[in-house]
Amino acid sequence: MPRILVTNDDGIYSEGLAKLVEAVAPLGEVVVVAPDREQSAASHALTLNRPLRLQQIGDERWIVDGTPTDCVNLALLHLCKDKRPDLVVSGINFGPNMGDDVTYSGTISAAFEGSLLNVPSIAFSAFVGEHFDFGPCAAFAAKLVAEALETHRDPRIVLNVNFPDPPFAGVRLTRQGRREYVVGVIERLDPRGRKYYWIGGEPPVWHPGEGTDVEAVTSGHVSITPLHLDMTHHPSIAPLRRLEERLGDAARKA
Ligand code: MN
Repeated sequence: MPRILVTNDDGIYSEGLAKLVEAVAPLGEVVVVAPDREQSAASHALTLNRPLRLQQIGDERWIVDGTPTDCVNLALLHLCKDKRPDLVVSGINFGPNMGDDVTYSGTISAAFEGSLLNVPSIAFSAFVGEHFDFGPCAAFAAKLVAEALETHRDPRIVLNVNFPDPPFAGVRLTRQGRREYVVGVIERLDPRGRKYYWIGGEPPVWHPGEGTDVEAVTSGHVSITPLHLDMTHHPSIAPLRRLEERLGDAARKA
């Protein structure tokens, strides 16, 4: 029976996690290791400067007072070290994780941690509006998980899945799109007259480039983007090669 590790960045009490766990339960043995509170935008942070606490809250159900990456790390290297999961799934996140937001995402980073520890991983996020129903997202997630468990996938490739508002028009295999960053720091005064700040005051502006996650989701399709951690911009290597010669002497004399 396949073993599936489920985590997220919205915390153990999130509805998206509950729906995902319920949907994949018939497909295998499900282990849940999730943060004890919301960790959205935690990126790929690993906690190294304080002890971490694991708390068992049920059979194969654990919470961690850390980041999504901590959860996957503790799950794969400690809790499940003798019975390795076949797949890591993260989500279903409350809110999309597309385009430039990919590196901020705790949901996707949890999947990348699975990938780094050699387990094929999938991240799920939903473009939630008012009265959003996670049901259709979870039902689709289960179908993709069943598919992924059957096909032998490269653990270095993470599947980043984004759901539009259901009903879905279909599925698109996409590339990462782009978000325009609107200046969004809000300054206010606290009751003691000291300044405080909120990041992200404006809603994001998405560029619907052809073939992107953004285009797929805005046209009602489920978007699947294959991601990898190699951030090298390969086309820049040749034109920048001149720096080897131009700065070589400087490096040797430094
Ligand atoms: Mn989140």
